[in-house]
Amino acid sequence: MSPSVGRILRTSRRFVQILDRSGAIIEATVSSKALDVTVGDAVEFESKGVETVVVKLIPARNSLARSYRNEVWRIAANLDHLFIVASVFPLFNNTFIDKVLLVAALQSIPVTLILNKNDLDLSATREALLVYETLGVPVLFTSAKEGSGIDELRTVLGTESLRIAALTGVSGVGKSSLLNQLIPQASTRTGEVSARTGQGRQTTTQAVAYLYPAGRIEPLLLIDLPGMQNFGVNHLRPNEISYGFIEIAEHAARCEFSNCRHLAEPRCAVKDALESGAIAPSRYESYLRILTEVEEAQPY
Ligand code: GDP
Ligand code: ZN
Repeated sequence: MSPSVGRILRTSRRFVQILDRSGAIIEATVSSKALDVTVGDAVEFESKGVETVVVKLIPARNSLARSYRNEVWRIAANLDHLFIVASVFPLFNNTFIDKVLLVAALQSIPVTLILNKNDLDLSATREALLVYETLGVPVLFTSAKEGSGIDELRTVLGTESLRIAALTGVSGVGKSSLLNQLIPQASTRTGEVSARTGQGRQTTTQAVAYLYPAGRIEPLLLIDLPGMQNFGVNHLRPNEISYGFIEIAEHAARCEFSNCRHLAEPRCAVKDALESGAIAPSRYESYLRILTEVEEAQPY
């Protein structure tokens, strides 16, 4: 019998959940450690005795990866769209947002910023938001608490061309609350009491895909990425950093030196753009911070 094709919904060590073509959810094991499968991957699987086994990973269109210390993990794959959930200052974390935008730009994944908790005072956050609006990042305002903006979010998620989308954000911004508004079944994950620790909330470290059926012919796979404070990008090469900061890349084409790092080199078009206000200081600072981080992590 030829193998079937499906989509990974969850992973846990060697075990995975697969959504098959008929919409059934199948538990399977991964045949080899060499198959680095993640949520959103398309795979081939087949029955072997009593087990269902993933036998092949179909190359992903794009992958979201993050690094921690010296390891790199693919955390989601084949994304049509990435939603960054943010909230008002002091939770608004522009370094996190810039890292996610960087990784998404390098993988050609369109991004929308969701500013949640807009029932709170936004005045201290407006200027930071303007930076992203100027970059062309769409911003949606929501309040998971009061339910505002959820319909607009549903409209975006209802776009038929969206097959796989993911939500990311630092913890505390209200990502789980939003997800519960969109997919009530997702609440089992947030409300779950860990039997071992007895704690009210379990820290989720793996991405999980939910089926979002509302108003769609084919369900959308909505991937909840684990809440994290830091989105490690040390696996990137230094020259990818300026490439993935889209406005820096745009100006960098006019720097005197083709290998300009936009630090203190003469006739640097990026520095000129910073001085004229065409590049936001917060974005340039992020660029410097990330470049330093990545260079310090290089093995030489
Ligand atoms: P997560 O860590 O991003 O998943 O955030 P949670 O969904 O757990 O929410 C963190 C805290 O923010 C909780 O106390 C929520 O009740 C609160 N919260 C979530 N959404 C909103 C909102 O829209 N407005 C306000 N004021 N609080 C919210
Ligand atoms: Zn330069």
